Amino acid sequence: MKKFTCPYCEKEVCGHLKKAFAGSLKSKGIKCPHCEKRLTNGVVSAYVNSGIWFVVGVFEILNFLFVTYYATNFILLLIYGFILSRLYDAFFGELEPSRRMDYM
Ligand SMILES: [Zn+2]
Repeated sequence: MKKFTCPYCEKEVCGHLKKAFAGSLKSKGIKCPHCEKRLTNGVVSAYVNSGIWFVVGVFEILNFLFVTYYATNFILLLIYGFILSRLYDAFFGELEPSRRMDYM
């Protein structure tokens, strides 16, 4: 199984599950156990996640307009969006330094 490396110290930091929940560029992210720096998912992940949530938004509107009992679909679409974005973060892209102002 692939281990993701820290961009500061080049040592292995975490596996897929932990990276999936490392968050976006401006989140707190995860702490590197070797150098204590904070790491998050990268820029590409931010673009892909915005794309995923845009598509989910479009489907929500279509669902609202054309489906009679839309409440369950509404929740399901949100869950699908969440799972898809976590899956992308788990398997693609690299860890990058957190861009939060208070950690720089
Ligand atoms: Zn490190």
